[in-house]
This record gives sequence, C-alpha cells and structure tokens, in this order.
Amino acid sequence: MSDDACIFCQIAREELPSDVVASTDEFLAFRDIQPRAATHVLIVPREHHDDLDAWIAAGGSSDRMLAFVRQVAQEVDVAGRYRLVTNVGEDAGQVVPHLHWHVMAGSRLPGF
Ligand code: 5GP
Ligand code: ZN
Repeated sequence: MSDDACIFCQIAREELPSDVVASTDEFLAFRDIQPRAATHVLIVPREHHDDLDAWIAAGGSSDRMLAFVRQVAQEVDVAGRYRLVTNVGEDAGQVVPHLHWHVMAGSRLPGF
C-alpha cells in the first residue's frame, strides 16, 4: 500500500530528497528535518502503514525492524546510547501519518 500524498511514502520511494543513513528493501532511515537531539534519525517501513498498530496488524516483523534499529545506531555511531520512540495517533504526538520510529541520542535529550 502506498499513498501518493504521503510525504514519507515519497521519501521512502526516494522521490523526495532526504539525508539517508541506512536502508534495506523493507526500511529506510533518514535524518529528521527538524532534529530535536544531536542525533535524530527516523526509520520508516517502505510500505505505507498509518502507525505501529496498523503495521503489527499487517504482520510487520519486529525482529527485522529491531535488527535494522541496531544497524542504524551503529551507522550513526550511537550504539549503546540512544532512545527509540514511535508515536501512535495524534494524542500521542504523531504528526506524520506514516509509521516511523525516532532514534534519538545526545546530551540535549529531554527526560520523560
Ligand atoms: P511525529 O511527530 O509524527 O512522531 O514525527 C514526525 C517527524 O517528522 C518530526 O520530527 C518532523 O521533524 C519530521 N519531518 C516532517 N516532515 C519531514 C520531511 O519532509 N523530511 C524529514 N527528514 N523529516 C520530516
Ligand atoms: Zn506513507
């Protein structure tokens, strides 16, 4: 599934430019355009899913996703010191309705 109007689908198809840090056939990792930490990378599935719940319901593989998180952390040199977050729904702060995980690291990270 893909949505022509979805900005992250366009980035995932590499029709819109982004600062890519790692990629597989299934996932793309690129730097957030408005970083809120010294390192702030977004991971998206190349396929469109609105959010984590939709992706899980469609059979998304958390094993492959977490292996990719590890690869991304190594690629941007934050292995062993990062935060992994995904916002599900507007109330949780989701602004872009294409599943993405935030990988954030650095001394400017706010606490919860
Ligand atoms: P959310 O609030 O939905 O969890 O996070 C959306 C994130 O996407 C934000 O951190 C925002 O800065 C980032 N973002 C929005 N539009 C773009 C874009 O066109 N390119 C990139 N690289 N990041 C974007
Ligand atoms: Zn999309």
